[in-house]
Amino acid sequence: MKPCEFLSLGYYKLIIKEPMSLPLFLVSLLLPALAQTLGQPSGQASAPAAGQVAVVPPASAEAVLEELKAGNKRFVDGRRTRSLLSSEDPKLRETLARGQNPCAVIIACSDSRVGDNFIFDQELGRLFTIRQAGNSPDLQAIASAEYAVEYLGCQVVMVLAHTSCGAVKAVADAKGTPLPGNLWAFQAAMAGLLEATPRQPKEEHLSYYRRLERVNAMRQAKALVHRSELLRAKVASGKLKVVPAVYDLVSGKVIFLEEAQAEPELAQAH
Ligand SMILES: [Zn+2]
Repeated sequence: MKPCEFLSLGYYKLIIKEPMSLPLFLVSLLLPALAQTLGQPSGQASAPAAGQVAVVPPASAEAVLEELKAGNKRFVDGRRTRSLLSSEDPKLRETLARGQNPCAVIIACSDSRVGDNFIFDQELGRLFTIRQAGNSPDLQAIASAEYAVEYLGCQVVMVLAHTSCGAVKAVADAKGTPLPGNLWAFQAAMAGLLEATPRQPKEEHLSYYRRLERVNAMRQAKALVHRSELLRAKVASGKLKVVPAVYDLVSGKVIFLEEAQAEPELAQAH
C-alpha cells in the first residue's frame, strides 16, 4: 500500500488511536525511496520514448554475450562506438534516470586498467559492475550479483580476470603466509587456488601467474554458482549464463572460458 493510500484511509486517525501503528506508517514512507536508491525499476519506468536512447537489453543470454564480444572487438580494433557517443549523453541520462536495464553483471578486478565500459564498448546503463581486487567475490558481491539478476533482469554474469593481476600475484608469492593488514581476505577468497594449480617444474613465473589468473576466474565462476542458490536455479533453468573470462592488458582482447554449470551434486548440497 502506498503512503497516499494510507492517508486516504485516515491513517493519521489510526495513529492517534493506535500509537503502535506509527512504525509501520514510517516504513511505508521509506520503501519507495529505498527502491529508488537501489535503482529498482519503478512503476513509472517504461520503454524509452521515440528519439530517446534505447536501453532495452538483448532478448537472450546468447545475444548479450555476442554483443559483449562484438564490443570487445571494437575496443581491440580501436573502433569504439557505443562508449564514445557523447552527443547522446543528455538523452541517455534522461532515459536512465527513469530506470536501469543492464544486460550483464561484470565481476571484475579493481585494477585501474580494467574499465569494463571501455573493454566491451558499452554506454552507461549497460553493465552492472562489481569490482573487487582479484575478482573473487565475497558475500556482499554475490548479493549484488543476485540483485542485478533477480531485480534488474541481467542474463549474464561474467567473472572477468585480467593478466598481470597484482592480487593474484600477491597470493601466489605469499605461498600461504598471511598477507599484512586485511589482505588475508584475498587469500581467503582464493582459498584452494594454489593447491589446485601447482607450479610445473621449470615453469616461468609469468606463465605460472597467467595460469593462476585463468584458473581463478574459472574457480570463482563455479563458486558463484555453488554459493548462490538463486543464481544456480537461474543457470539450471537456462535463464542465466555465468561465464569466466580473462582480459589481456596488452592486446585488449577478452578470452571467454568455459561457462559454469549448475552441477547436480552442488545443487543437492544446498
Ligand atoms: Zn587484478
